[in-house]
Parts: sequence; C-alpha cells; structure tokens
Amino acid sequence: MNYLSTRALSTNKADRKKFCDILLEGLAPDGGLYLPEHYPQLDEAALARLRSTWASQGYAALAFEILSLYIDDIPAADLKALCEKTYTEAVYGTPQIVPLKKLDDAISLQALSNGPTLAFKDMAMQLLGNLFEYQLARKGEELNIFGATSGDTGSAAEYAMRGKKGVRVFMTSPAGRMSPFQQAQMFSLMDENIHNIAIEGVFDDCQDLVKAVSNDLEFKARYKIGTVNSINWARLLAQVVYYFAGYFQATAANSQQVSFTVPSGNFGNVCAGHVARMMGLPIDKLVVATNENDVLDEFFRTGAYRVRGSADTHETSSPSMDISKASNFERFVFDLIGRDGAKNKDLFDTQLKAQGMFDLGHDPAFAQAAARYGFASGRSTHADRLATIQDVYRKHGVMIDTHTADGVKVAREHLTPGVPMIVLETALPIKFAGTIVEALGMEPDRPAKFIGIEALPKRVVNLPADVAQVKAYIAQHS
Ligand SMILES: *Cc1c(COP(=O)(O)O)cnc(C)c1O
Repeated sequence: MNYLSTRALSTNKADRKKFCDILLEGLAPDGGLYLPEHYPQLDEAALARLRSTWASQGYAALAFEILSLYIDDIPAADLKALCEKTYTEAVYGTPQIVPLKKLDDAISLQALSNGPTLAFKDMAMQLLGNLFEYQLARKGEELNIFGATSGDTGSAAEYAMRGKKGVRVFMTSPAGRMSPFQQAQMFSLMDENIHNIAIEGVFDDCQDLVKAVSNDLEFKARYKIGTVNSINWARLLAQVVYYFAGYFQATAANSQQVSFTVPSGNFGNVCAGHVARMMGLPIDKLVVATNENDVLDEFFRTGAYRVRGSADTHETSSPSMDISKASNFERFVFDLIGRDGAKNKDLFDTQLKAQGMFDLGHDPAFAQAAARYGFASGRSTHADRLATIQDVYRKHGVMIDTHTADGVKVAREHLTPGVPMIVLETALPIKFAGTIVEALGMEPDRPAKFIGIEALPKRVVNLPADVAQVKAYIAQHS
C-alpha cells in the first residue's frame, strides 16, 4: 500500500510513500494530509472472515487483520505482537475492549473511553506509542514530541508514550486552565521521558509556541521534534477498527446495516468511519454531531465550509469539540471531489487562505456527501446537553459525558426504523464532572484507579509564553 497527499497531482506518482515513512510525520510537504492510494475492498467472504476473527479471537486480532491491509512494511508477526500488546483487557477493563451498551431498541453506546485517560483518544494513541517505539528502535532514532493541549490529547499522548524508549514528550498547557482532574492526570506522571510545561497564558499561546518551534527548521531537525496531532494517519487507521467491532456487535449477519453518530471536532473520529464505509462495511449513515462550534454541521447542511476565528470559537461544556477548523476534513473533501488534488489545493490552500471559506453548495459533488457517502449532521447547545444527560440517566440509568450527550441528542434526530444506531461514547462523565453536577445534582462515578489523584505529587515546570525559554528547556532535557 502506498500513500499520497490530498494535494497530490494525479500525474505525479514519484512522491508516494509507505506507512512507516509517514508514521512519524505530520503534514505532507505540499501541506496536504496523507491517505492510502485506494481503500481495500472487502467482499462478502472477507467481511465474513473478519466477523469470525472478531468472534473467536477478539479485538487485537481484528485490529491486526485491518491494519495489515494498510501496512506492508512491518513484518506480520511484529504487527500482530504490537496489536496484542496494545489492546488488552488489563488496559481497557473488558474482554471486548469496546463493548456496546444498549440504551433502548434504537440506540446503543459504544464504549471507547475505558483506556488510561478515559477518552476515546486512547484507542489510537496507545497503539501509536507502541508503533513509535518499534519504528524508532528499528531506525536507531529518537523523537521529541512537542505539543499543546487543553486536556484530552495531551494526557492521551503522555499515557501512550510514558516509559517508551527513544521518545520524550514535552507538553505545554495553559497554566491553571485545565480541570483539576485533567491537571492531576497529566502532572502526576513521574516518568522521566514526560515533561509537563505549564505556560503562563491561554491555549492559543501554547499553540503559537508549537508553531514557532515547528517553523524553526534548524531547531526542529537538530532536536528531532515531532508531533502526535490528530492528522496523523496511524491514529486515524487505528480508529477504523472499532467501527468494525461496533458493527459486528450490533448485527447478527453482514446483510444488515447500522448507522453511527460521532461527536466531532477535528473530524478525525468520523473520518475513520468514512474509511470503514469506503472499505465496504455496511454503514447506512455517518452522523456528525457538533456543539455550538458548528463548522461541520454548517457544511453538511449547506455545502459551505467556513472556518471561524478565535473570537467566534465558543467555550462550551463539551470543550474537546471547541474547534474553529476541522483539521482532518480535507481528507473527506478529497474523496468527495473525486480525489482531484489540484482542486483540493485550490479549496484548502487558495480559497480558505484568501476568504476563510469555500462553498461547494452548487457543486454536484456536494449532493453526494449524503447520497453516496452517507453523511448527515446536527448540532446541540449547552441546554440540549443538560437535558440529554438528564433524560438518559432517568430513562436508562446511564450517566453520559457532555460530548457523548451531543452525540445522543443528534442521533435521536436521525433514526431510521430497522437500522441500529450506534453513538460513540468519546469520554467518561468523570472528566467533565462540573456539567454532570449541573445536570444531575450529583458527582459522577470515579474509576478506582483515579480516586485521590488530585492529592498526588505533581511534576510540572512553569514557563512564560516565550519561545526562547521553551526551546532552552527542550534543549536541556533532550
Ligand atoms: C477529541 C474529542 C472529540 C472530537 O474528536 P475528533 O476526532 O476531533 O472529531 C470528541 N469528544 C472527546 C471527548 C474528545 O476528546
């Protein structure tokens, strides 16, 4: 399997890459994102084989089968071992790893948040940690991951990379602005290769530092700076697996269809659903659920993709979906417009830069987003989240987090009789306890391993939002 950039010109085949070439990379050199040259097609026999792999050998074996379709530069035995090491009952708490919980006859929740940091990002990041360690050892290289977080991504990255050979993590976060639970999760890690840097400023200041360091090519090369952001193809690929596991649990035969509703921000999670559907997994609808930051809902309703400035990006009670532009969205648009790299470059490079938007509303391709690719969308507000959390708790006795509540609210607007709807549970309620207390008047349950973490010793340095000082810290500690 070869990979191409979403801005690649079809005439140029020389710049195609292998999986391991793009594993440690972010954007392609032309500014695009990597995608496989084609999506492997699963016929009836192949799908039947995967169902039986899932039923008899479980998640890690299913992951190995699916990853093997996209990775041909890691020996099969090694890839299998990496999957087995990653997806264990010890880490995820159940033998199914991603069990379905039925809410009612129409809707089930798929639990993706039982990993180390209680959000779905662990599903991919845990694999990435093992893949990075493996690949760096093979090449005899080291990597310094430098990132910015307002919560979920940074903690998932740290828990995935802690103790891994050849990798260090330098994670900036806005001082005092994460929830006490999130701070405790990250700052209580005592591993020598994990460096928490609290920046005097807001999240945007942290992101600016990352940009400044990435733009200093000399420093970047000298200190082997890398990232683990959501555009990484390996992360997206790892997420494809749980769509299969959800489908096999919700259906008895491969003639049946299901729909998924996905709480969305950067379009990474639902893009993995798109890939699964393109491979032939019988998915009817892929429903994109946003909060008040409705860039994606607006696109699927109107065809206009209009990124927001930071002043128009709302701080909401589902903060992991507070985005102003959806960094993975370019991947889907590439498929939607017939994989025309030149046109994609015009949309995402020229038009977006010049006008902050592009409009496919009158492009015949836009009609296919729903008809051919199954996409639908909806949005919710803080009041909707509170009402949905209350309703799901009263009717079903299940506590859901604010992001999952966005999903359930929108899923209920897109039900088709006879087609099971699976809502992806992207975090556990304990991560966003304040809003749960507001909705239900009680604290959410806390998994045993997190009891008392706020009182643990903390390992964090405080620095001003100053590029030179942050660079000096990285240099000293790598
Ligand atoms: C990251 C995140 C999302 C959004 O996922 P995308 O892949 O960015 O669309 C939703 N919910 C939670 C809890 C998250 O951490």
